[in-house]
Amino acid sequence: MKATDLFSRILGLTEPWFVEVVDLDTVEGRVDIRVEHGPGVRWSCPTCGRELACRDHTKPRGWRYLDTCQFKTFLHARVSRVDCPEHGEVQVKVPWAESKGRFTLLMERLIIDVLTEHATVTGTRRILRLTWDEAWGVLERAVRRGR
Ligand SMILES: [Zn+2]
Repeated sequence: MKATDLFSRILGLTEPWFVEVVDLDTVEGRVDIRVEHGPGVRWSCPTCGRELACRDHTKPRGWRYLDTCQFKTFLHARVSRVDCPEHGEVQVKVPWAESKGRFTLLMERLIIDVLTEHATVTGTRRILRLTWDEAWGVLERAVRRGR
């Protein structure tokens, strides 16, 4: 099995998203996964659900994913934007993250679980190799969501 197929499967990506490139950097200890979508996709406006053609894409964005063994793992994608007659130019939802998140949903959940278990940001940062800003950002979003 090719690395791109392997990661498409273990990430649980579904149409139209697929893994285009997987880069392993053994010096930096990281895996970078570039995700793309096929052509001619109709996207839903995140507010009203209206199906629209792709207008353009965001600049490449990155999300930290769960580690692959000991390697920090990052997902990268250019997210489609649509031009909704009601809501204007908006970015579509991606299945792996919240609209403004810097982590995938699974990574964010792990951070919250470790924070809950250890109750200190310092311990959570050390275990998951996060910066202060990253750990606080996740904590603040979780508090806003009322968890
Ligand atoms: Zn809309």
